[in-house]
Amino acid sequence: MKKFILLSLFTCAILISSNNNTFSKYGASDSTETVSKELCIVSGETIEGSGVKYVYLNKEITFCCEGCEKSFKKNPAKYLGSEGLWCPVCDEGDAKADISEITDGTKYYFCSEGCKEKFTSDSDTYLSNYKK
Ligand SMILES: [Zn+2]
Ligand SMILES: [Zn+2]
Repeated sequence: MKKFILLSLFTCAILISSNNNTFSKYGASDSTETVSKELCIVSGETIEGSGVKYVYLNKEITFCCEGCEKSFKKNPAKYLGSEGLWCPVCDEGDAKADISEITDGTKYYFCSEGCKEKFTSDSDTYLSNYKK
């Protein structure tokens, strides 16, 4: 019984000290710490420095390297998930993963075949809405 009490006291002490550690880490410096801990959605690696920034329609995404940016462009749905894909024609997040088109090496998704056709005939106009 004595052993059990000692053991649970010990566990408590560990829990308390590790909680304190996490707390002080976040409390001390927020901005720089959080930026350096961002993970690349392609490789899952920590992004060093400012990484490689890329704007995909209405989203700014940061990758750890240019290789990951390339892999992303070929198959955005793989990394973003098939829910909430952005249709550049409607300007809404209702595109479907199986209605897609590759323009300048980047894959885009559409909510319907009609949107895809509009985009194919005038992709520059639709994409220019997203370039700032
Ligand atoms: Zn990478
Ligand atoms: Zn659409």
